Amino acid sequence: MSAVKMDGKALSDKVRGSILAETEALKQRGITPGLAVIIVGNDPASEIYVRNKEKACAACGFYSEKYALPAETTQDELLGLIAQLNESPRISGILCQMPVPAHISAQAVIDAIDPRKDVDAFHPVNVGKIMVGDFDFVPCTPAGVMELLAAYQIDPAGKECVVIGRSNIVGKPMAMLLLHKHGTVTLCHSRTQGLDEVCRRADILIAAVGKAGFVTPDMVKDGAVVIDVGINRNAAGKVCGDVDPAVMEKASYMTPVPGGAGPMTITMLMKNTLKAAKLQNGL
Ligand code: NAD
Repeated sequence: MSAVKMDGKALSDKVRGSILAETEALKQRGITPGLAVIIVGNDPASEIYVRNKEKACAACGFYSEKYALPAETTQDELLGLIAQLNESPRISGILCQMPVPAHISAQAVIDAIDPRKDVDAFHPVNVGKIMVGDFDFVPCTPAGVMELLAAYQIDPAGKECVVIGRSNIVGKPMAMLLLHKHGTVTLCHSRTQGLDEVCRRADILIAAVGKAGFVTPDMVKDGAVVIDVGINRNAAGKVCGDVDPAVMEKASYMTPVPGGAGPMTITMLMKNTLKAAKLQNGL
């Protein structure tokens, strides 16, 4: 039997619709959510992400500002811009597209953003809040996965949840969110021994590795829910995930790539921006 395809595009459209409706209501009260997006240098993938974020702002009725800075921008100049945006009343959320050029410390950039405007949820204050389970913002990719699970009535409580990948932006917060929902969580990485066996225990398997076709059918238990966070390009240049599409025949639910976890990520950024605007206005 083939798995149910978890449609991230349709869910994303639905969530954006409800964000737009809420934004329209906020505008009646004189509040417009505003997102500032900073990009340093001209990495082609980053340029696409930034363009998509601007489009999503427009679709949600937000105000947005884009700062495209040259690759030679100094760290002090960038931190100066962030300091200005921290004070700007029109801006509810600030995002600096990663990666930044090597002469700039990514952590210094993250640390400079006011945690109340940190809609990526990368600032140590927000990371700590996620750890203790009392948070306003959640990193967008794991947040999108949780929304997908909820939309398909998949409850992690008591389930074996295996996350492959321990990055700060995906794997680690993903594990914490599943734990807060009472999953029994195993966080795997490049030094995990017996990975295949660990994966075969999973009721919910989440792949965030960055390697095309990494998860093969023999690593998946019959009827497991499989979430593919990976965005890779195969030899033919086609976008593909971390999970071999043949896993569809073993899983009960699975996200396609593209069209699964990916579309949810930017939508969750919009959700965080809306929330930031509300919090900054005491709502
Ligand atoms: P990363 O490179 O920071 O982390 C990859 C992780 O995979 C590491 O923790 C590493 O330990 C683990 N890993 C590598 N080889 C392994 C192996 N052989 N066995 C077990 N674990 C192994 O990547 P990231 O930023 O977390 O992104 C992961 C993937 O998700 C990428 O394909 C990225 O493009 C994609 N991504 C998608 C979205 C989205 O919007 N859907 C957002 C962010 C990242």
